[in-house]
Amino acid sequence: MFNSTYIELSQTALANNISFLRKQLKGNARLSFVAKGNAYGHGIKPIVSMAEKAGVDHFSVYSAEEAEQVYAASKAHPTVLVMGYLSDAAVEWAIEKGVEFFVFEFKRLEKAVQIAKRLNIPAKIHLELETGMNRTGFQVEELPQVVEFVKKNAGYIELVGCCTHFAGAESISNYLRIQKQKRAFKKYLKYLQQQDLQFEQIHACCSAAAFRYPDMHFDLVRFGIMNYGYWPSEEIFIEYSSKKKKLGQDPLKRVISWKSSVMSLKKVEKGDFIGYGTSYQASENIEIALVPVGYGYGYSRNLSNTGRVLINGKRAGVIGIVNMNCIAVNINNLETVKIGDEVTLIGGEGDQQISVASFSKFSDQLNYELLTRLPHNIPRLIK
Ligand SMILES: *Cc1c(COP(=O)(O)O)cnc(C)c1O
Repeated sequence: MFNSTYIELSQTALANNISFLRKQLKGNARLSFVAKGNAYGHGIKPIVSMAEKAGVDHFSVYSAEEAEQVYAASKAHPTVLVMGYLSDAAVEWAIEKGVEFFVFEFKRLEKAVQIAKRLNIPAKIHLELETGMNRTGFQVEELPQVVEFVKKNAGYIELVGCCTHFAGAESISNYLRIQKQKRAFKKYLKYLQQQDLQFEQIHACCSAAAFRYPDMHFDLVRFGIMNYGYWPSEEIFIEYSSKKKKLGQDPLKRVISWKSSVMSLKKVEKGDFIGYGTSYQASENIEIALVPVGYGYGYSRNLSNTGRVLINGKRAGVIGIVNMNCIAVNINNLETVKIGDEVTLIGGEGDQQISVASFSKFSDQLNYELLTRLPHNIPRLIK
């Protein structure tokens, strides 16, 4: 391999998480595997084939580009649902291909019908309702017009779903706002059903909402972050594990490990500065290892003088400034480190663990953000 750093993905961990999430589903609710953001940074291509091995047959993504990537990686014929952006050209592609998509604008509805008529294939749509997040979704005032239009063009619209999204179910501080959203969704849904619109799938929950509001699973749950082994927030984890009387015991397993290797070793004398500038001065004679990964690969500059890595199962601290392609770590307290030894930037070695959470606290990014910022061009290896 020519690369200085790589990402390892664990099939066992992914299968474990999917099976755990399936067990949480109420009634006949189905699991949709959210693979947006390059599968939360893990890589759509490897993750889709891994998820299919674990029995996943429904993927949700943000754009047509991602939907294409799911198809390219898939060996089965999964349902693919686009929750966000589609250009007009992509609407045509989606209808031809049988891709399902959220509709939250009247213009999009008209466009979909226009193209469906031309292709003589009904568009598979999910009506997204605005219930209080104020992101995308039809306003309640628009619903009579939507009903009329859908009924008039019934032959060209397959009403697959009706859905909404909650504004921060992972935090109890949003509780009242979410209660209002739940009530609004049920009310608008009832209205649509009274107008004789029938939906195959009603859905509202992401990971956090699925755990906090199990009464809202309906027919489909859109699980994202938890598939990859992370809780949407510490709060949701503590709530779950204390309810189960297994406080702190995590049923999820991290899928990703991020690795590199020791490129060079050096002895530095007491009083000398390390790397650019003067942010780190050796307070004793020390030995350092240079690792060929830096902010150019998503290893944040905020980890300068604070990041931790594992070498031979032991922790070593980043010293000096994170460079574009390189970091220095203090290996003074480690036994013999050799050039070529594996370095773990995220993941476990023995009983030691560098978690994305600790990493993202240091670098001031959320799990979600840190993961999705992992560059696409770092090779992904399935283990
Ligand atoms: C991202 C997203 C999800 C998944 O969220 P997680 O918190 O990762 O489970 C579900 N639904 C919509 C509409 C989303 O945008």
